[in-house]
Amino acid sequence: MTKKPEDEKAAAGGKVTGMRRSRPCPICSKPSTKENYPFCSDRCKQVDLSRWLTGVYAIPASEEDDPDESDFDLQD
Ligand SMILES: [Zn+2]
Repeated sequence: MTKKPEDEKAAAGGKVTGMRRSRPCPICSKPSTKENYPFCSDRCKQVDLSRWLTGVYAIPASEEDDPDESDFDLQD
């Protein structure tokens, strides 16, 4: 009875990890669901959306306060 070296190798380390790791929810870090990927729930999806809409994710061009805020005064 002869044993091929490859067989032993396969038996020892032939484990295949085909499971894809799901990304955690960027809002609350819970595991994301397929329905709301990459979020865990519709609620977190809405949170992310509102963050975009309210400009939380907007990157300011400068950290200084812009002195020309009066430019936004359109009431007159
Ligand atoms: Zn979440």
